[in-house]
Amino acid sequence: MALKLTESEFGIERDAEKCISCQVCVRQCSNDVHDFDSDDDTIVSDNQSCVGCHRCESMCPTGALEVKEREAQFKTNANWSPEHLKNLYKQADAGGVMLTSMGSDKPYPIYWDHILFNAAQVTNPSIDPLREPMEIKTFIGKKSNKLEFEKVHGDEDKSQAKNILGGTDKVSKIRLKSKVSPQLELSTPIIFSAMSYGSISLNACRSLAAASSEFGTYYNTGEGGLHQDLYKYAKNTIVQVASGRFGVDIDYLNKGAAIEIKIGQGAKPGIGGHLPGEKVTKDISNTRMIPEGTDAISPAPHHDIYSIEDLSQLIHALKEATEWTKPVGVKVSAVHNIAPIASGIVRAGADFVSIDGLRGGTGAAPQVTRDNVGIPIELATASVDERLREEGIRHKASLIVAGSIRSSSDVIKAIALGADAVYIGTAALIAMGCHLCQKCYTGKCNWGIATQDPYLTKRLNPEIGTRRLLNLLRAWSLEVKEMLGGAGINAIESIRGNREHLRGISLSDRELDILGIKHAGEPW
Ligand code: SF4
Ligand code: SF4
Repeated sequence: MALKLTESEFGIERDAEKCISCQVCVRQCSNDVHDFDSDDDTIVSDNQSCVGCHRCESMCPTGALEVKEREAQFKTNANWSPEHLKNLYKQADAGGVMLTSMGSDKPYPIYWDHILFNAAQVTNPSIDPLREPMEIKTFIGKKSNKLEFEKVHGDEDKSQAKNILGGTDKVSKIRLKSKVSPQLELSTPIIFSAMSYGSISLNACRSLAAASSEFGTYYNTGEGGLHQDLYKYAKNTIVQVASGRFGVDIDYLNKGAAIEIKIGQGAKPGIGGHLPGEKVTKDISNTRMIPEGTDAISPAPHHDIYSIEDLSQLIHALKEATEWTKPVGVKVSAVHNIAPIASGIVRAGADFVSIDGLRGGTGAAPQVTRDNVGIPIELATASVDERLREEGIRHKASLIVAGSIRSSSDVIKAIALGADAVYIGTAALIAMGCHLCQKCYTGKCNWGIATQDPYLTKRLNPEIGTRRLLNLLRAWSLEVKEMLGGAGINAIESIRGNREHLRGISLSDRELDILGIKHAGEPW
């Protein structure tokens, strides 16, 4: 007989007065927590299997259910926390690596919450974003050191003439001479981060793609290939090339607006990925270009990259393959040596560097890695931006940062610390209904997001998903404009890496030093 050493983490309270035994909760729970007892026409619940996703509670038509987190039933011990004990019991039961999902929930400092943004008072007027134009358009890619223009003589090639100085006859015949590298144009400095078809449902992918297209930003295929239903959103797609090379061929590369080589992700630096064979359905096998039912294993390293020179070769091979028409970036986890690593990536020829911090999300990762490896994105952003500026190569690549961007204030602080744009993953899933139960790796997501079960995936209507994501982008963009206007600034470009507009609170001198910001109360 199995030894039962852990109690359920959640308690389900059912109000018998309100419950009408409609069995909605029985049908809604993919973890089989609720069961209908036809003998006495009641529903019984087995709390032990509950993951706290709150689906049944949300769907109950009479509000009869309440799902509550339970206090762990262990004797208080400052050294052996309830989490240690529960994990030890689970590992002694199963004998394997403990898997988890989403970003780390360890109580490490969240630097965003220790950084304050500035506002204009008296000496420089604030700007009302409802009445005055505000520019938050962002370009991702290599920027030129300087721009050169030339005159177009006579009638020759008037169609290409650029009016750069305001519309007089004379200047209307001037055109850009410098060759500009391919850029991604974003209407807001927010991009949906890499989430593969396989780790999330096709309806979730459809929602991300359609919202990107309608709002004028981008989503990222992750390492799962590009489903043909998403081809119509190609102009707003960043295609990823990961170590498993799933779904990568020349058509795939040409479909993307940009290409991102994935070296690592914040939740699992230094290790690969694994989509079990039972999740590799026919549709996923077609998209990933692997046989149905086989494990999709991404090796920890790219087996053709063991140095910056190797990385440079791949960057240039991808540019060559796509005729130098697309920006090629590299995604890495924020690790201790991130500043020189980012410098190497820029020198290798990348047009953008994506950095995913310690609290970055995932569909599945070993808990020990997710919670103990890497550094917070706030520190990584500041140190990479600083290093690239010191070396005089900041303009050679854009910086996209990720790893728990939770609100518009995180966005503006990230940009002031030195990012060009942010990736959001978990926030986008929450907008679509995710309740952060952190059980994506089971494939039983009751909200229809991190699942391939046809019964569950129907729970996410892609039209509703798209609308909710559009609302999120719109709300955050308006809030970014509000904060910019409040600081008397009318273009996001002016705040990028402008750390004078940030102040730290409750941080040590060393932390302030690495963030490159002053303490609250210190003037300019
Ligand atoms: S797992 Fe979710 S749906 Fe099932 S009982 Fe718990 S809260 Fe309800
Ligand atoms: S996507 Fe689904 S399974 Fe994953 S954390 Fe959110 S609600 Fe839970």
